[in-house]
Amino acid sequence: MSVKTKQSYATFMKCRECSAEYPLTRLAICNECFAPVDIIYDYDSISLKPFDFHNRPQNIWRYKELLPLNNNKNIIDLNVGYTPLIKCKNLGEILGLKNLYIKNDSVNPTFSFKDRPANVAVSKAIEFGDKVIGCASTGNLAGAVAAQAAKARLNCYVLTPLNTEIGKLSQVAAYGANIIGVNGTYDDANRLAVLASEEFGWNIVNVTSRPYYVEGSKTMAFEILEQLNWQTPDQIIIPVASGALFCAINRGLNQFEQIGLINNNKVKLNGAQASGCSPISTAFKNNQKNITPVEKPDTLAKSIAIGDPGDGDYVLALSKLTNGRVDDVSDSQITEVIKLIAKYEGIFTEPAGAVTVAMAQNMVKNGQLDSDETVVCCVTGNGLKTTELIDINKNLFKISPSLDSLIDTVGGINNA
Ligand SMILES: *Cc1c(COP(=O)(O)O)cnc(C)c1O
Ligand SMILES: [Zn+2]
Repeated sequence: MSVKTKQSYATFMKCRECSAEYPLTRLAICNECFAPVDIIYDYDSISLKPFDFHNRPQNIWRYKELLPLNNNKNIIDLNVGYTPLIKCKNLGEILGLKNLYIKNDSVNPTFSFKDRPANVAVSKAIEFGDKVIGCASTGNLAGAVAAQAAKARLNCYVLTPLNTEIGKLSQVAAYGANIIGVNGTYDDANRLAVLASEEFGWNIVNVTSRPYYVEGSKTMAFEILEQLNWQTPDQIIIPVASGALFCAINRGLNQFEQIGLINNNKVKLNGAQASGCSPISTAFKNNQKNITPVEKPDTLAKSIAIGDPGDGDYVLALSKLTNGRVDDVSDSQITEVIKLIAKYEGIFTEPAGAVTVAMAQNMVKNGQLDSDETVVCCVTGNGLKTTELIDINKNLFKISPSLDSLIDTVGGINNA
């Protein structure tokens, strides 16, 4: 006999700074002090054991108790999440790590981890009765929200910098969303998105319903724990743009500890940025409590090129609290590491996914990672969205359609 559990144990929202409490409405920031509000659950009433997950859907809704949706008929069914955690033996040998894992979120429905927050936020938008949704995006969120909107038959507007990769914009266009291409930075697009939500009443999911949006991302932490058989890794390395994913992973770990699914959470949380846009890493190295925004991001890791990260100060505080670190890696190392991950593990990531493995590489060199530690690198996006970064000419051999030409060419190939 199965015991029916509630869909969700979300109970209220609470300000991260002044602790003011609010009902579960479409509120994004505290009315008193303008700080972010977080969704709070009735942890004491949640009773979950590892066995309870055996027959659950293989997507983020297997953790429905800790997600803020009242009715599962509002779930947009694109089967988001429950992505593989891959043990990387080959890459681990190259890097000097015996227990290296990649959480491969590049195989989500729209090929980035942004499907997680988008799935929760747009499903919640249906619950709120919203008709028009949107987002400000560095590229991947736009695709994720546009796909959810397509499936839910909602109008969708995405605000992105005009220089966003064509692979990402063509995906959005295919889903039928309106692309508002802003001739400026992500921060410009984000400012306009805030104004658009006020002017038109759109639910800009990463702004107007941000507390719901970020809940989706923490499922990445839930899955890592479940896939490691309810053991905690020693270190997780997370790419950081706004810092929302980083904070969400921290929350996910704490919530599973709170409801007793894991014990003794001592996971070190590390944030990885690109050197061309590294406000949080810079503040970490200078031992500052607050970040200084970067005016003009300049990196090929465009998905994480946010100069003024909303959760930057929280990432600083949490990395220190968990004994982790924040660092940045150069574009040339990113390009090398994209090829390394692909060549040794068969996983093709975009630059934002490679920053985590690049940071692991540097941490080993600097003695900040021990060869025995269990390390999870979050690979958050897919390389097929940024194919312009790969030079195919070293691997491409053009032949005429004859056996002679084939034999000649193959004879000349050096596979060393
Ligand atoms: C958005 C994004 C990130 C970072 O997300 P934040 O939550 O804004 O820090 C990392 N990787 C990829 C591929 C992304 O699209
Ligand atoms: Zn407040």
